[in-house]
Amino acid sequence: MKILAVSDKDDSKLQACILQNMKFLQDIDVIVSCGDISSQYLEFLVDSLKKPLFFVKGNHQTFHPSGHKGYIEKFLSDIYETDKHFNFGGINLHARAEIFQDYIFIGFEGSMKYNKGSFQYTQHEMTKIVKKMENTIYFMQMKDLILRRKKRKIIVVSHAPLAGIHDQKDLCHQGFARFKNFLNKFKPIVWLHGHIHFNDQRNAQITKVDETLVVNTYGFHVINIDNGKVDVISNAKNLL
Ligand SMILES: [Zn+2]
Repeated sequence: MKILAVSDKDDSKLQACILQNMKFLQDIDVIVSCGDISSQYLEFLVDSLKKPLFFVKGNHQTFHPSGHKGYIEKFLSDIYETDKHFNFGGINLHARAEIFQDYIFIGFEGSMKYNKGSFQYTQHEMTKIVKKMENTIYFMQMKDLILRRKKRKIIVVSHAPLAGIHDQKDLCHQGFARFKNFLNKFKPIVWLHGHIHFNDQRNAQITKVDETLVVNTYGFHVINIDNGKVDVISNAKNLL
């Protein structure tokens, strides 16, 4: 499976590659946004590539589908989960598990709480969300076992990094501790995150932790998963 992963900036270089119909984009299976990307840019990616989109929101997210709604409208959209699907066809992965091809995609939005802004969580709040998802995954894997289905590999999409991996010392850029528990328990094949900006984009920020490849998707990256082997092509390397 080939993933186009984007985060943290609307990258004009990627738009140029799409407009030139460059080869590396032709067999993309799915677009993944790790957050802090404008809805207009995501809409452009979906419209141009005509591929499904999974996304989580970042701490600087500009689109608030419920933000302009009154109390009743918000209440109804919460009940009917109309915010799950945006008009550009994306699926909000936050605290949700979605099966796509042979993989389970799960997501966690936002960053560490550092002010009164939206989509921020304390360690304790995020731990509760991750534990809920751990139960969801146990249940899905149990069902697959009972039905004698092949075990699906997990792909995690978060905005913030894991504690101790690609994170930084200031509160805003610290990683979540419970993400490490999740990684140790379920050994996802890939963990995609954003939120950590880095200037030297000739080198991707990639770390192998046990069986999991943790990738900072800042800008745009192509992740190719083939027979359990994962290759990452960073935005500035080999593509442009
Ligand atoms: Zn961020």
